[in-house]
Amino acid sequence: MGSILVTGGAGYIGSHTVRILREKGAQVVVLDSLVTGHRKAVPKEVPFYHGDIADAGLVKTVVEAHWVEAVIHFAARSLVGESMTKPDLYFYENTAKTNLFVSNLLQLGVKKIVFSSTAAVYGLPEIVPIPEESLTNPINPYGLSKLMIEASFQWLEKAYGLKWVALRYFNAAGAALDGSIGEEHLPETHLIPLVLKAALGQRDAIQVFGTDYNTMDGTCIRDYIHVLDLAEAHVLALEALDQKIDSGIFNVGTGQGFSVLQVINTAKKLTGIDIPVIEAGRRSGDPDVLIAKVNKIEKTLGLRTRYSDLETIISSAWKWHKNNPNGYD
Ligand code: UDP
Repeated sequence: MGSILVTGGAGYIGSHTVRILREKGAQVVVLDSLVTGHRKAVPKEVPFYHGDIADAGLVKTVVEAHWVEAVIHFAARSLVGESMTKPDLYFYENTAKTNLFVSNLLQLGVKKIVFSSTAAVYGLPEIVPIPEESLTNPINPYGLSKLMIEASFQWLEKAYGLKWVALRYFNAAGAALDGSIGEEHLPETHLIPLVLKAALGQRDAIQVFGTDYNTMDGTCIRDYIHVLDLAEAHVLALEALDQKIDSGIFNVGTGQGFSVLQVINTAKKLTGIDIPVIEAGRRSGDPDVLIAKVNKIEKTLGLRTRYSDLETIISSAWKWHKNNPNGYD
């Protein structure tokens, strides 16, 4: 039986996807540079290669040794703020390296890929919930670095028969329900982990970035999807490519939004801790509301989110942070 190659399998979304693939009985092999990933997030039994997606020799070794038949490609840089100050890094790491990697895969006969894209491709949306066919107009290099790969895939399909699915993630959140793996970014910039670090006393308070947005309580609204549901979307995408669905782009979210204050208040309730809150100014580049239109992924891939209610998201993340106050260290 062939294997699924998961690049970035030691990262947040990658490690949860590896776990779900194994639960379904798939053979999995991980390639990760460990620049942002954590070796401990990947079980010891999973074949693990420490290296770069742009290392053609290593990719050939992995593909041939494990009979790789499809790839889930997570490996990337994903900090919007960093992409603003180092756009060249993002175009190199995310766009140039992925282009080279996919070109090497095609030469090795691997023609199926599920690609991590992002709602950041939309920029400031004109319609909410955002349908896949909306205008794409990223307002940061991170979004553009991913959009360029999406756009390249249709040409690689025409020329070489690449079969692909690009998943545009909304806000990934939560952790494995047993709290054994979870989110650890260095530095951490995301709302839910920061709220919970404030609950643990590792930070003085949670800052609310902007209270004058055009929303019911003035704070930004986002579509939070549990990382296990997001991981499931990748598995469904692979299965669908096997059943020869058309290649394409899918939003992955819940279709429902929550404000920053709703997230903080739910965390206060679930932790029983009166988390200190500081109202701060807006963070640049944050749209008021980002919510996915999800009928395409529900219909075509059959995704039904199971864990993406705010309570399950926050309580699973809380379990991870409480059990592992220093993350994977
Ligand atoms: N946010 C906040 N305080 C923080 C971090 C984030 O108020 O310390 C807000 C942020 O402005 C956005 C929402 O929380 O409206 C989600 O931000 P996050 O960075 O988690 O994800 P993003 O939507 O940027 O992908």
